[in-house]
Amino acid sequence: MSRPAEHIDDATTAQRGPGSTASTQELLLDGVSHHYVAGSGNIVHAVAEATLRIPAGQFVCVVGPSGCGKTTLLKVLAGFLSPSSGEARYGDDVISGPSYQRGVVFQQANLYPWLSIRGNVELGPRFRGVPRKERAERAERLLEMVGLPQFADAKPYELSGGMQQRAQIARVLANQPEVVLMDEPFGALDALTRERLQADLLRIQRQRRQTVFFITHSVEEAVFLGDRVLVMSPRPGRIVLDEPVDLAATYGPEVGVEMKSTPEFIEIRDRVAGAIQIV
Ligand code: ADP
Ligand code: MG
Repeated sequence: MSRPAEHIDDATTAQRGPGSTASTQELLLDGVSHHYVAGSGNIVHAVAEATLRIPAGQFVCVVGPSGCGKTTLLKVLAGFLSPSSGEARYGDDVISGPSYQRGVVFQQANLYPWLSIRGNVELGPRFRGVPRKERAERAERLLEMVGLPQFADAKPYELSGGMQQRAQIARVLANQPEVVLMDEPFGALDALTRERLQADLLRIQRQRRQTVFFITHSVEEAVFLGDRVLVMSPRPGRIVLDEPVDLAATYGPEVGVEMKSTPEFIEIRDRVAGAIQIV
């Protein structure tokens, strides 16, 4: 089922501003397995029978040992990989290729070095034929939102790693995705920048209510950001813990980093950490 997405974008833009739009549909993995055929001809079973329902607007974090299939799952959700068996769906649509509705943020910012930061942020909307004025407004508001308004005309090499990562987030949100898929997006950043970006991302997601699928190595980051944390087993990855995190119910929605030292936070963090099997 295809939808007149730009039309819907515009309607929600009017209500919510130019960030990205709230998700309206469930994201579903239905018995997804995936194997790769390595160069040697060996078969690598990366993911086994993953079944997962992610309600619209949920922030899901995924942790698990290195090589357990996290990125593979994300690539299936992005539509970069077709699973060997099972399927991924967004609402009624089987995911069979990439879509601007599902934005992807990688660990490395990979901005186009020859474009300005503004040019990078406007690129997706430009490709999709969003009128010049509207895409300029989107870029301006998003660069404001990620704290880079004064760097709109700078080139990527003039920005620090953390700033480039903010710009990448703005670039993905400029497409107004309903789903944001993030693969260790803060993994290469220093601790302070990472905490700032975590807070920024939470604020943006609480305003916009996109669905977020967020892979991280940090259990603390997962519990801090997620409404729910999934733990995957060593390869072939299975979901071995599905832990709801509802700290807002205890502390209210506005809590910041101080939440990380509360007994409730520590209890969940330890349960998640305890479920990770080291290989
Ligand atoms: P994670 O993101 O959890 O570290 P990945 O999903 O990247 O794990 O990889 C899962 C397993 O699949 C790993 O053993 C990895 O080496 C293997 N793998 C990933 N991509 C390929 C590929 N293109 N060809 C062969 N094996 C791959
Ligand atoms: Mg990975």
